[in-house]
Amino acid sequence: MNYHSTRNKTKMVTASQAIASGISPEGGLFVPASLPTLSQQTLMELQGKSYQECATALLAPFLGDFSQEEIAHCVNDAYTDEKFDTPRIAAVKHPGDDLYFLELWHGPTCAFKDMALQLLPHLLTVSAQKNTPDKKIIMLVATSGDTGKAAMEGFRDVPNTEVMVFYPDQGVSEMQRRQMVTGEGNNVAVVAIDGNFDDAQTAVKKIFTNTSTIERLATHQMIFSSANSINWGRLLPQIVYYVVAYCDLVTQGNLAMGEQVHVAVPTGNFGNILAAYYAKQMGLPIGKLLCASNQNNVLTDFFKTGTYNRNRPFFTTSSPSMDILISSNLERLLYELSGGNTDQITAWYHDLATTGSFSVDATVKQKLDDTFFAGDCNDEETAEAIRTMFEKHQYLCDPHTAVAVKVVQDYRAKTGDDTKILLASTANPYKFTESVLAALGQDEIPTDEYQQMATLEGLTGLAIPPSLSALQDKPVRFTTQITAAEMESLVLDHLGICPQ
Ligand SMILES: *Cc1c(COP(=O)(O)O)cnc(C)c1O
Repeated sequence: MNYHSTRNKTKMVTASQAIASGISPEGGLFVPASLPTLSQQTLMELQGKSYQECATALLAPFLGDFSQEEIAHCVNDAYTDEKFDTPRIAAVKHPGDDLYFLELWHGPTCAFKDMALQLLPHLLTVSAQKNTPDKKIIMLVATSGDTGKAAMEGFRDVPNTEVMVFYPDQGVSEMQRRQMVTGEGNNVAVVAIDGNFDDAQTAVKKIFTNTSTIERLATHQMIFSSANSINWGRLLPQIVYYVVAYCDLVTQGNLAMGEQVHVAVPTGNFGNILAAYYAKQMGLPIGKLLCASNQNNVLTDFFKTGTYNRNRPFFTTSSPSMDILISSNLERLLYELSGGNTDQITAWYHDLATTGSFSVDATVKQKLDDTFFAGDCNDEETAEAIRTMFEKHQYLCDPHTAVAVKVVQDYRAKTGDDTKILLASTANPYKFTESVLAALGQDEIPTDEYQQMATLEGLTGLAIPPSLSALQDKPVRFTTQITAAEMESLVLDHLGICPQ
């Protein structure tokens, strides 16, 4: 399987090259030249296999220049019992209402980013050995809250890598901030940015694609890569859990083999829902994809009108990991829906960069309508979704997951469609304890986060994850705060590369 950029088909790269470099030099994202197919026969064979066995089988056709042993080794090192607190790695729960929660937060940092970021360092290490064996890989990470810590955990003390995380100072939950600033490892650094996630992500993309900076790194035997979902190696592992969840639904007797299920995803950078789209294209019986946004509803408007317009106010919400106005992975979807029209993608993304907006044509708009339903909700509706799910079903959701619950309710009310829905549950509620307590109607919320967690545990009986309680005793290691404009010089300085 070979890869090329969404903006240029002529230069083919191998899977390991796509993963090692993260982003294509002209700013496009790597996509597979074709998708493998998933037959019902294969689905039946996967039933009853372990998560690790399924992952090895599903990843193989995408990783053409990896050996079977290399893939199995990466997968087995990533998805271990020490790292994940459920043997199934991703657990399907069914509190009621024909709604199936795919809990993707049983890894070390309590958010779904672990599903990919535990595997990516292994894929990247193998990729680097194949392409740039003597180089040190510098991972630049822009985070809206969860990717940062998950990347630090995944890459902590991995030889020949260095991780630099940039997070929006005012844009993450207290628990997310604490997870990052107390992070361990000799190869990690964390910096607060005076700006929002988009400022951090745009600055990171600019540093990656700055040819003079790349050349200066090269003279020091260093290369950049990305742990954000612009990296194919970050997106690919996410396809696996949709397939495994489908098999589990069949095994549990909740779905007949071949029966369609809709998939609802709380969406920010469009990575998670895109993985579900790829699974559907491969042949997994998925019906509609429900794209759920918070008050930053740029995607809802896009799916409604065909115009993507980022010129709008940016809101800080109770679901901070979705506070995003530039959803990078939409580019990969539009590449697929435009029939692989790289010139068209280049033109649209040129418009986005210069005017902040672009409009797709009628053919692409029709394809969007055929597959997607998009909706959004505000913080009040999010809180209400958390409260009703708990009161009705004793099931506790974090605010991101609750956004998708609300959009599912809206979808069903609007369409009357009662098809079963698999909903991606993306974070442990304890990462957002204060919002969850407020949603449950708690009047007196302690100011201390650890007391907040104890209150929530008393109220719901859901156990506090040990990795979050442990933060209390960890010293703060990182306090640097800068503007997005200062990022590039800070990166070079940190790497010991002198100014020109
Ligand atoms: C990152 C994140 C999202 C959004 O996922 P994308 O792949 O960026 O769309 C949703 N919920 C949580 C908890 C997250 O950390």
